[in-house]
Amino acid sequence: MTTITHWIAGAPYAGAAGQTTPVHDPATGEVTGHLAQADAAVVEEAVRTAAEAQREWGATSLARRTEVMFRMRELVVQHTDELARIITAEHGKTLDDARGEIARGRETLDFACGISIASKGEYTADASTGIDVHSMRQPLGVVAGITPFNFPVMVPMWMHPIAIATGNAFVLKPSERDPSAANVVADLYRRAGLPDGVFSVVHGGRAVVDAILEHPGIAAVSFVGSTPVARYVREKGAAHGKRVQALGGANNHAVVMPDGDIEQAAAQIAAGAFGSAGERCMAVPAAVAVGEAGDLLAGALKREAERIVVGPGDREGVGMGPVITAEARERVLRYATDALEAGAELVVDGRELVVEGHEGGFFLGPTVLDRVGTDVAAYREEVFGPLLTVVRVDTFEEALDLVNSSPFGNGAAIFTASGEYARRFTHEVQAGMVGVNVPIPTPVAYYSFGGWKDSLFGEHHAHGPEAVRFYTRNKVVTTRWPHQDRPVTASLSFPRTTD
Ligand code: NAD
Repeated sequence: MTTITHWIAGAPYAGAAGQTTPVHDPATGEVTGHLAQADAAVVEEAVRTAAEAQREWGATSLARRTEVMFRMRELVVQHTDELARIITAEHGKTLDDARGEIARGRETLDFACGISIASKGEYTADASTGIDVHSMRQPLGVVAGITPFNFPVMVPMWMHPIAIATGNAFVLKPSERDPSAANVVADLYRRAGLPDGVFSVVHGGRAVVDAILEHPGIAAVSFVGSTPVARYVREKGAAHGKRVQALGGANNHAVVMPDGDIEQAAAQIAAGAFGSAGERCMAVPAAVAVGEAGDLLAGALKREAERIVVGPGDREGVGMGPVITAEARERVLRYATDALEAGAELVVDGRELVVEGHEGGFFLGPTVLDRVGTDVAAYREEVFGPLLTVVRVDTFEEALDLVNSSPFGNGAAIFTASGEYARRFTHEVQAGMVGVNVPIPTPVAYYSFGGWKDSLFGEHHAHGPEAVRFYTRNKVVTTRWPHQDRPVTASLSFPRTTD
């Protein structure tokens, strides 16, 4: 049994002995560790050391900062298996899925290795007579990230490589459910040569989040998690004068047109719905079958869902692990049972699944419900578990209206062979990330990641070019070097560039 401590000033940091919370292995239900809970004093220490380190780091050359990023990238590649095992042990997802998460997170390190290009300023010679203008982007200072349980390596990695490469110090508050990977990442940064204090980890729940949001030494907060907490973080952070980007929950739809390859669509949608036990913000919990796609899709989804092997994530051949907690399991069961009582048709029933030898684990089998009413909570709300609802409509227009009536706008996909429908969908759908015959349209790291509506509060999306802007401030410098041949006359009138 381990005690997981904070990481401050380049080393584990215990703080005063205080409260701890248990960390579970979702595949067994057993407690595997105890997590130290930071209080305001721990956050104060993290911010103090971060601010001190940032003064030098922010003035360090781009070449040196980039060197650290290159080394960090290589260390993450070398330690992928170790990180994946930690993710699987605390989150439950399969080892292969965990490796995929690390690879996608590492893409942001790849991007950060090119920060000297991505953060370049602009220069204009002779903007006015004898006047040149240039702009530069400067770091904010100390910034923080607050992250969810479902991607304990990738989501923080959307943030810290760019925050750090642009010259900030970064304080991470990971999920209390699977906190251990954050400390390994902190140690990898130390080994990559990042100065102590530039990357810190403070553990805990709501009290730590509040301490971060209230701390005057933190200039900006990136949050990823559920919509109610995202809204809270955005409002409270803004009230304390911080720049805040808060990515919230999702309820992503996949529209299936009758003209395409329905078998292919079903395979893709099942992967999107049941990969990582449906606990992805880009999961596909709702399929919208148009016209005669309905029966074919329901049949193909049944075959796909029944093929999925459920078990502990570190077992060979397993495709889907447990959900994160016993409460999450109960919540998903409730959604399924309520939908059935409201008249949905049961296509695949995973509610009673038991994994032999893992009776205490938080397992559920893939569950597929057809002809789900659009007023049913399992369709309307974010279930965040291995439950796929199929809604039937008659036309493309009805499908589009349905997708657009969701309060969420994270991802949306269409499966079709028609360029016309694909184009209309991509142009008219109200979502930040759109897939055409791609179920999980998670943008590559050199684009940015983010949803619309209740899926994101704030102006900037995560990673990529938008993150460079989020973690930096713009400065524009106007320069004149007076010359004896060009005397400058001062005027009380507002200067015109044409003068
Ligand atoms: P969560 O909102 O419960 O927790 C996220 C973070 O907020 C954690 O660090 C947690 O400690 C903290 N937190 C929890 N409750 C809090 C409260 N009341 N006050 C202050 N802080 C609090 O989310 P989760 O269950 O860890 O993760 C799943 C959710 O995250 C889903 O809704 C999923 O869609 C969302 N998510 C969104 C994206 C995205 O890019 N939009 C990506 C991943 C996950």
